[in-house]
Amino acid sequence: MARVKHAVVAGGAGFIGSHLCDRLLADGCRVTAVDNLVTGRPANIAHLRGQRRFRFLRHDIARPLRLAGPVDRIFNLASPASPVDFPRIPVEILLAGSYGSRNLLDLAVRTKARYLLASTSEVYGDPLVHPQTEAYWGNVNPVGPRSCYDESKRFAEAITMAYHRARSADVRIVRIFNTYGPRMRLDDGRVVPALVDQALRGLPLTVFGSGRQTRSFCYVTDLVDGICRLMESDAAGPVNIGNPSEMPIIEFARAIKRITGASSAIVFQPLPADDPKQRRPDIRKARRLLGWRPRVAFERGIRTTIDWFATEGQR
Ligand code: NAD
Ligand code: UDP
Repeated sequence: MARVKHAVVAGGAGFIGSHLCDRLLADGCRVTAVDNLVTGRPANIAHLRGQRRFRFLRHDIARPLRLAGPVDRIFNLASPASPVDFPRIPVEILLAGSYGSRNLLDLAVRTKARYLLASTSEVYGDPLVHPQTEAYWGNVNPVGPRSCYDESKRFAEAITMAYHRARSADVRIVRIFNTYGPRMRLDDGRVVPALVDQALRGLPLTVFGSGRQTRSFCYVTDLVDGICRLMESDAAGPVNIGNPSEMPIIEFARAIKRITGASSAIVFQPLPADDPKQRRPDIRKARRLLGWRPRVAFERGIRTTIDWFATEGQR
């Protein structure tokens, strides 16, 4: 990112966004993090406050955004992303994906900045093609409990391409698969913080359904590297970024028990509606176009994450 002067990170106080801010600052960029803190936390960026090249702006991207001076890159990560948020704030999620995307795309056109949308593997819904390639159009229930998120991101992809085709916006789309690491919220409800928290507190580990459904977990620094490579590439996308090593959720629960040494029982609870049965990224496009592949093995990444939750994360 050495040539980039000023980057805007919408969602910069969130889990992934704060790691992206770290990376951009380390690369020498000036960074403006824009966030309304609906799911993000000031603690994620507390270490950046006071840095000369870092600025935080509390702002809801569903409202128009004006910034003084030139902008080179806009990373749009601003959206709640956890299934626990879907019944809680579905309208806000849809407004972030729709009005929010439009407002940041308008900023990109005005400032001639390059724009990157953080999309998701959820655009594939409960996929009928496995592993998922970017050419797959998905299997999404448009009225189900996950639709506020899935359709918000599908709309966000569509408006990104519309601005690209009709308004000459310079755009990139990354489809992010399940990502984990330090700074996830303990109460965020996603399987990594939920089970790590339960194991650390000696509580039963809650596995939804049979636990045979699969996910593929990518460590956050690998993801951030993929995002930066895509931003600086010539590929508009969409490009999948994720770790293709796939595991059933029951195996994930057993790994957490083993690594933490917890004596917790594993208990089975009902599977939420429309929970995808399998998910694994096909990353051939990322390898070919970006020279990207994940570097952090699950065992190493999850140990770092557990250590963080055991210390910082409990505060
Ligand atoms: P997060 O909730 O930690 O981060 C999202 C951030 O966006 C938060 O700080 C939140 O306060 C902010 N935000 C939400 N709505 C906003 C609005 N209207 N205006 C301004 N700020 C707003 O979640 P995350 O896991 O870091 O996800 C970041 C992005 O990556 C999201 O767009 C998400 O959809 C995408 N993504 C994440 C994953 C994953 O596994 N973590 C997978 C696929 C896609
Ligand atoms: N899950 C689980 N126990 C939990 C939280 C989640 O078994 O306490 C399951 C969930 O049903 C899903 C998988 O773990 O099958 C991943 O869930 P997460 O919410 O992390 O992400 P997503 O479903 O969006 O991939």
